[in-house]
This record gives sequence, structure tokens and C-alpha cells, in this order.
Amino acid sequence: MKDGFVQEGTKGALLPDELEEINRYSVRKLAEDEVYTFSLTLCDNEIDRDFERFSVEALEKLCRLFVGKTGIFDHSFKGSDQTARIYRCEVVRDPGKKTAAGEDYVCLKAKAYMPRTEKNADLIKEIEAGIKKEISISCAVEEAICSVCGVNVKKVRCAHKKGKRYGGKVCHVVLNSPTDAYEWSFVAVPAQPRAGVVKAFNIDKERGEARVNEVLKTLKMAGEEVTLSGHQAEEILKYLERLEMEAEAGRAYIEGLKKEVVRLAGIVWPKLSHSAVVSLAEKMDIEELRAFKAAFEAAQDEVMPPMPQLAKAAAAKEAGENKQFKI
Ligand SMILES: [Zn+2]
Repeated sequence: MKDGFVQEGTKGALLPDELEEINRYSVRKLAEDEVYTFSLTLCDNEIDRDFERFSVEALEKLCRLFVGKTGIFDHSFKGSDQTARIYRCEVVRDPGKKTAAGEDYVCLKAKAYMPRTEKNADLIKEIEAGIKKEISISCAVEEAICSVCGVNVKKVRCAHKKGKRYGGKVCHVVLNSPTDAYEWSFVAVPAQPRAGVVKAFNIDKERGEARVNEVLKTLKMAGEEVTLSGHQAEEILKYLERLEMEAEAGRAYIEGLKKEVVRLAGIVWPKLSHSAVVSLAEKMDIEELRAFKAAFEAAQDEVMPPMPQLAKAAAAKEAGENKQFKI
């Protein structure tokens, strides 16, 4: 299971160093009675329902990556800004318990805190009452290793199918080399476990998109009325947000290219009017902008051969003017 769960809240007093750890993250020094802490299991090395599992090394690295990360609450709490933060994380081994892959069971346990505010009161009550909440985590991994042939299926496709048996062993993917942990979130356990719920776990962008594609497929095939689970809606929203961010970055890149083309044109085509170049650059697509930039840069080297900075300054001084070196 990659999805974890909340274990319990703390009823007893905090250890002195715990409060210290918590206060590393808080803007204002919090007193013991101002914080509520609870334990959670983030993930483990058991093969999950997608036939994937983390390697023990991955869990060890995630252990470091998750400290300090904030968690958000389930969609039912949407609109509020409730968050909890992990202040301590540890890899817990259970040699008495074996995973389906035959390894000793290892899981990643964390402790998180949130301020005891009126807004958090209901949630604290729920955790204290032991109403189990699932947790989903988001992280990026570099490697997804096929358990049968050992190739990194993120880079190369292999012929093995997850969930199928090969030589008596279930083929699964081992998630390795995590590069980042993004966030974790509380997900209220649905009345019918797993029913119609798309798992919110994000291995990385590609997988997130694969899942969004699945949801989109469902949407296309659906009739007039469509019901989305909270997870599915959130997946789509996250996907759109990411697209917006990427589009924004793309626009900034194109603007930069245009400016560069206009600037270079001023050097290599000094007789062409500035406004004509600006108007031309506006009409170019990204490939054309790149092509012009490359050609202009090559031409610029002929007009102004690259010189070391000092030589330039000396030459300018000699020429008695600095103008042409001003950008
Ligand atoms: Zn394989």
C-alpha cells in the first residue's frame, strides 16, 4: 500500500525535543498546549493494488524528504486552509512480518502537528475518536524497476505485465530513487472502500497524466450525466493547474526569444526599423524564432567578434566611445 493512514493522536505530553522540532517550522514559538500531534504511516514496501512497491532504499530516502512537508485535508474540507506538518519521520522495520515479495516489512512512519485552533477542532476530534483516515502521498521517483527483468520501465518498455505471474512470482514494479516528496493529504475513507475512487497517489507527472487520461476517457464515454469522485475532480484540477503553469512558462520563454531576436536584429540589421522587427517577431512561431536567433547570433559574431570583456572595454576606450557595447 502506498496510501498510508493516521494512527492516533497523542494524548500524553510531548517530549521536550518534539516541541523543539515543531518550533523549527512554526513562525511563532508554539506552546505545548497549542499543538496537536498525531502519528501516521505514509507508505511501505508492500506490493500495492497497482502492483507497485517502494524499495527499502526508497523508503529511507523518502524518510528524509518528507520531514517538514505539509499535508492537506480531504476534499470535504476544501476551501479551508487546514494543514498539518510532518516534523519527524522514521523507517520502521518489522522483521516478523513478510511482504508479498518476501522482504521484511518496512514502513515509513511520521509524526505531524497542527495548531489547536477552532477550525481544526472537529478534525482533531475525528482523529482522537480513531476515525481512520487514509493518506495519499505525492513524490517523484527516478526509477521504476520491473521485478522480472530489472529494466527501468520509465525509460524502456519491457514485455512483462504487472500483476501477471512469471515463474510463480507476481510481476510488479519497484519504485526506486525518489527525488522529491511533494505533499501528503488526508482522504476520508469512502463508505465503500476503493469504490469508484481513483487513487490520488502521484508517482510523477507521467503517471498523473495517465490517470487524468483515464478520467478523460470515462468522461468521453459517459452519457449526459457524469459523476466524478472527489479524487477524480481533484486530479483534473491539478492537471489543469499544471497545464496553466506550463503554459505560463512557455509564454515567458517565447517572450524572451522574441526580445532576443529583436535585440540581435538591431545589431545585425541596424538599418531595419525597430518596429518592423518587433512586428515580424510577433508573427513568428517558436521554431522560426529559434532559427532567427541562431542565424542572428552567428551573424553577430561576424559584426562583433567575441572578445574578452577587458579587451572590449579597452577597444571601446580607444575608440573613445562606449555606446556600441551598451545593451
Ligand atoms: Zn520486465
